[in-house]
Amino acid sequence: MTQPLILVVEDEASLLKFLGSSLRRHGYQVLPASGGREGLGLARSHNPDLLLLDLGLPDLDGLEVLKDFRTWSQAPVVVLSARTRERQKVEALDLGADDYLTKPFGLNELLARIRVVLRRIIQQEIPQPVVIAGDLRIDLEARQVSLSGEEVRLTPLEYRLLESLARRNGKVVTHKQLLREVWGPGQGEQTQYLHIYMGQLRKKLEHDPTRPRHFRTETGVGYRLDVEMPKA
Ligand code: CA
Repeated sequence: MTQPLILVVEDEASLLKFLGSSLRRHGYQVLPASGGREGLGLARSHNPDLLLLDLGLPDLDGLEVLKDFRTWSQAPVVVLSARTRERQKVEALDLGADDYLTKPFGLNELLARIRVVLRRIIQQEIPQPVVIAGDLRIDLEARQVSLSGEEVRLTPLEYRLLESLARRNGKVVTHKQLLREVWGPGQGEQTQYLHIYMGQLRKKLEHDPTRPRHFRTETGVGYRLDVEMPKA
């Protein structure tokens, strides 16, 4: 992908300007939009490779923009949200956003998240039977898990939880998504199960479960497995 096109929807004029010039400086093409409706129009006319979307927009709820975008585009979406809008961020991930940043965020973090989600789309075209996270190796075809070369035995539920995270290629998975995938529909609120099983997984698959390196907690949102991306 040469010079990916990023649509930036942000109503704060100074931030929009800053994002535009910073992203251009780092080799991206940028389409700026200062509102939701303008953003949706530009999305349809230019079909961007990535949408960077502020959730607090004056004319149209950012979540509505996301919903509309997802009806026709599979391009990655990174949402920007205020710290006070935790629930909105989780809702955005449930609606198909790929990642989020809480304002205020650093430019380096934004650039890193963008690189990761863009690499993921290249990767999604190739099935990944083996997922690597540091010294943790998950063979999704053989259903085998090893840590530093030693096979680790997991219960069926632990494996399903691990698999849900591993198939996301480093993407954050919300509590609701994990509960639905591992325990089935109707279990969307039983987050305590999830915390218990995540604790068990960490005990088996982290060298220091109190300072997890593979299974990252996204407070109030969900978990992500810190996988290694093959070089694109
Ligand atoms: Ca805003």
